Amino acid sequence: MNIAIDGPAGAGKSTIAKKIAARLGYIYVDTGAMYRAMALYIVRLGIDPKDAEAISANCNNADISIEYEDGVQVVLLNGENVNQYLRTEEVGFMASTTSANPDVRKKLVALQQKLAASTDVVMDGRDICSVVLPNAQVKVYLTASSGVRAKRRYDELMLKGEQCDLAKIEEDIIARDYQDMHREHSPLKKTEDATEIDSSYMTIDEVVDAIIEMKNKVIQ
Ligand code: C5P
Repeated sequence: MNIAIDGPAGAGKSTIAKKIAARLGYIYVDTGAMYRAMALYIVRLGIDPKDAEAISANCNNADISIEYEDGVQVVLLNGENVNQYLRTEEVGFMASTTSANPDVRKKLVALQQKLAASTDVVMDGRDICSVVLPNAQVKVYLTASSGVRAKRRYDELMLKGEQCDLAKIEEDIIARDYQDMHREHSPLKKTEDATEIDSSYMTIDEVVDAIIEMKNKVIQ
């Protein structure tokens, strides 16, 4: 069973996907974390995230793999656990730039497909329904208004005690979505066979229940 979830930044994909995986006993694959690890690799090399040639020349030297510790996905970059460096807005934006590179995508898509071939997965990202798992039994496009998504990020950061500006967060989210939706290779889009769920006014559990219901219908 493959459950594919795509959607813009901050729509709640990873929170929802993690909960579904825990309830069903599936593996959760956070593909954004792989693109973030690749961005980290590129930036650590001192390469400009916009330098497509240098990225293509170097991306195959990044050995990115994932492991699971107590159900939590650990991303290894050349053997180093890089989880702690991945979740900042800065790395998210860098990932959005480096992920436009077709060589980066080719490498990471192959890894994602390999993972999904061997086990039941819930996988989230931008091109899961369209490119990575076009034959997934359940396909969801999870979205929410940019205002709601920005407010969720803002609340998350405030809880961690980080200073932030709501308007700036919304601006960054809109810019990242624009970049992800308008790139040449594997842009974020809702495929015709995906079910759109707008989570703006839904609770996390309502969304989780709706997706599990879709999975149950497939099995019947
Ligand atoms: O989902 P997350 O915010 O962690 O993703 C970071 C960036 O990685 C996205 O903005 C997008 O550019 C890229 N990405 C992608 N394809 C995926 C997952 C993430 O291009 N399947």
